Amino acid sequence: MIIVMEPMATEEDIQRVVRKMESLDFKIILNRGDVMTVVAAIGDKKLIDPSSLASMEGVREIKLIQEPFKLASRESQKADTVIDLGFGVRIGGNNPPVIMAGPCSVEDNKDGLLKTAHAVKAAGAKVLRGGAFKPRTSPYDFQGLEELGLKYLAEAREKTGLLVATEVMDSQDVDLVADYADIVQIGARNMQNFKLLKAVGKINKPVILKRGAAATVREFLLAAEHIMHNGNSNVILCERGIMGVDTHFTRNTLDLLAVPVIKKYSHLPVIIDPSHGTGRRYLIAPASKAALVIGANGLMIEVHHDPDNAYSDGAQSLTIEQFNTMMQELKELENVIYKTQTTK
Ligand code: PEP
Ligand code: MN
Repeated sequence: MIIVMEPMATEEDIQRVVRKMESLDFKIILNRGDVMTVVAAIGDKKLIDPSSLASMEGVREIKLIQEPFKLASRESQKADTVIDLGFGVRIGGNNPPVIMAGPCSVEDNKDGLLKTAHAVKAAGAKVLRGGAFKPRTSPYDFQGLEELGLKYLAEAREKTGLLVATEVMDSQDVDLVADYADIVQIGARNMQNFKLLKAVGKINKPVILKRGAAATVREFLLAAEHIMHNGNSNVILCERGIMGVDTHFTRNTLDLLAVPVIKKYSHLPVIIDPSHGTGRRYLIAPASKAALVIGANGLMIEVHHDPDNAYSDGAQSLTIEQFNTMMQELKELENVIYKTQTTK
């Protein structure tokens, strides 16, 4: 790390910092400029809290030389991570975008789920999404069918050949959910539930990690790091909108630039959830198109056989017909993107 001293720092201030770092076995390189002194300290960052260092007398600021996420970083792996999701579907790198679609919640209408599953499969989706464990703001809202919902999802997989992605909310349920799901999802509200991140780090199923509504990209990547550090490197990052200033017209603010930003600093695949990202049905198609153009590796879209009567998130769910139309448009767009990539 680099410790920049104040121009007014005394020699005693500088030596206090040097002694502290040397006592922790850091190697010190002192650069005494005309205006200020810079201390480069090389060693094990775990041993020191940079914020306590920053508050020492005479210290102006601390700069970390390396990003704090390691396994998730481009520095540790140059090539894009490609994850085999099953059924021959691969996500990441130059693979075509993987479309994940399905209802917000798995409801007590199995036929409705199967109807949606068959329809999204026919339109080109590869993954069926649907929550059996639902994180709801109010305890009076539908909380999910839990294991019964997982059973419905597994039946939909049997009948359609779609892979299944579903959320786990509690570390105690990780094995249960992983038994049914092909991809385990960590929701935005749990992005920093470190016990849960640790638990999904120990399974051998891919994990979709959704960005917290108030999380920076760095915090997002550090959450992924927790999963990878515990042994599971198959992490798919999902941008799903962050809190913005306008909640009148949109539910969240979809941070599309998170895609190229993450891709610069990390090798992990990134997908976009335009349903939660916008909260409005009419914004899903434009947001999805923009997501593909900006380089997303996939989309997660809420689709319901009867959105007006959905138990959750109907307003941000496409009808089956709307999904069909959008998928046609996305295929045309994909061809254009592919052509521009190959002629570059
Ligand atoms: C979901 O995908 O069903 C969900 C609850 O999304 P988020 O965690 O992004 O709010
Ligand atoms: Mn939802």
